This record gives sequence, structure tokens and C-alpha cells, in this order.
Amino acid sequence: MTTAFIEFKNVYFRYEEDQPWVLKNVSFRIQTNEWIAIIGHNGSGKSTIAKLINGLLFPQQGEIYVDGMLVNADTIWDVRKKVGMVFQNPDNQFVGTTVRDDVAFGLENRGVPREIMLTKIQDSLAKVGMEAYMFQEPHRLSGGQKQRVAIAGVMAISPDVMILDEATAMLDPHGRSEIMKTMHDIIEQDRLSLITITHDLHEIIQADRVIVMNQGEVWDEATPREIFKKTKDLQAIGLDLPFVVKLSEELSQLGITIDKQPLNHEELLEELW
Ligand code: ADP
Repeated sequence: MTTAFIEFKNVYFRYEEDQPWVLKNVSFRIQTNEWIAIIGHNGSGKSTIAKLINGLLFPQQGEIYVDGMLVNADTIWDVRKKVGMVFQNPDNQFVGTTVRDDVAFGLENRGVPREIMLTKIQDSLAKVGMEAYMFQEPHRLSGGQKQRVAIAGVMAISPDVMILDEATAMLDPHGRSEIMKTMHDIIEQDRLSLITITHDLHEIIQADRVIVMNQGEVWDEATPREIFKKTKDLQAIGLDLPFVVKLSEELSQLGITIDKQPLNHEELLEELW
């Protein structure tokens, strides 16, 4: 059996001792080069999982391994070199006044020599198609471009796993597809593992495997196709319905019917694949 790149073994976590568990007996394995989508309702524990992988939090019970290392206070700096994270709001992630300074920040923090730094910045901006924007001010970029720069900042430190925690949630459909294309290209070139925490159907169907969280427990784990086949009510597992379906539902609630009926479950699956 191949060794998993990330492994959760019977993990329990709570934020306060007198509070209920936020994660209960969570176990899963993620292999090198695998694309995993973690889905589930808000509050089901998805972001907490991301923070545990990165050693921002530690479990009260159970074990977490990243590349064979038990994540604990002694290993977090080594773990963090391997795990890159991109969050929801691109505006909260910028520290530099230009795109170049911003990507440089993580490298400076790690004491990367200046002569190597410029090459790393150029390479990682090229990976996300943003090399032409090196001297732009980040706040002038579109949402999708900002997230691509945030991804470049993470790529510059050569992680083995990238976690996108609702990183496309604030983007329009064009921005979302920009990010997904960028991640496809990166995975192909750099053989990373990718974890996307998301409610977006189009994002989920690109994953190799889906972990469905429900009230702090792993509720299901399967390929996207298997998950969608057995779950007719996609909103029940915390997924957003496609825009056209939502729109026609909202219009029908207002008494407005449109020619095109909402897709039924089978038609939706057809449409997605
Ligand atoms: P998700 O990412 O699925 O929305 P989270 O992991 O953010 O879920 O949250 C899981 C649960 O933990 C929720 O009930 C949330 O209110 C709680 N929680 C999250 N962060 C904190 C915190 N810093 N302190 C206390 N409770 C928290």
C-alpha cells in the first residue's frame, strides 16, 4: 500500500474544553498528487480540518501525519513548508505594495537569498499566468487575478500540498474558472496534492475524490460521480445549485415561469460531465 501524504487517524477536536467536539473521530488519507474536495454545510468542520493540517491547531485526541511526520509543536515549521493555504478573501492576503513584493514576502520570511528570490518570483508568477503584472498594485487586479497572485505566493515556497479554503467563493464564474484552470496546470507540472474546500459543483466534479463532512464527522467519501449519483438533494450535502437552476427556482417562487424547466437530477449529472 502506498503511504498517504496526509493522514487523519481518529481525530477529535474542540475549540474549548467545555464545548462539544467540532470534529469527531475523523479519519481519512490523501495521496500524493490527489485532488480532494471537502464539502459539507457551514459549520461542519471543513476549515478546522485545514487548520489542523497546517498545525495552526492541534487535536486533543488522535493523530495527524503530513508526509510521514506527526504534526505537533516540534514539527510545525517543517509541516508548514509542505502545506500552502489560500483563503476566501483575496484582499486580506496581500501584504506587498506590488505583486512582486507580495510574492516575495513568504520567501523573505523563510530567509531565501535575494539572488534566488527573483527567479522564484518569476517562476511562480509564470505558473499562474501573472508574470506581466509583476509591478502592478495588487488592489488594481480583478478577484481572479488576486487569487492567482495569492496562489503564486504559496507556489514560491514549493509546497507539496495546497489547500484552497473557499478560495473561489468570492469570485464570479470567470474568476472561478481561471483559478481551476490554474490549479489543473499546476498539478500537472508540479505533482502536488490539492485540497479544495468548496460549495461549488463545477469545482467538485474536477476532484478525484470527495470527503463529505456532516456535523464534525466524515459522512461519506467517494468519487464526485458516486456522491452525486446517490445524493439527489445536493443542498443537503452543502452544495450550491448551479446558477440557472437557482434562478429558475427563485423566479417560480415569484410566480414567473420560464420556458426552460429546471434540470432534474439525471439531466444535471449529464450536464456536469
Ligand atoms: P466549516 O469550515 O465547515 O464552515 P468550521 O471548521 O469553520 O466549519 O467550524 C466548525 C465549528 O467550529 C462551527 O460550529 C464553528 O462555529 C466552530 N468554530 C470555528 N472556529 C472557532 C473558533 N475560533 N472558536 C470557537 N469555535 C469555532
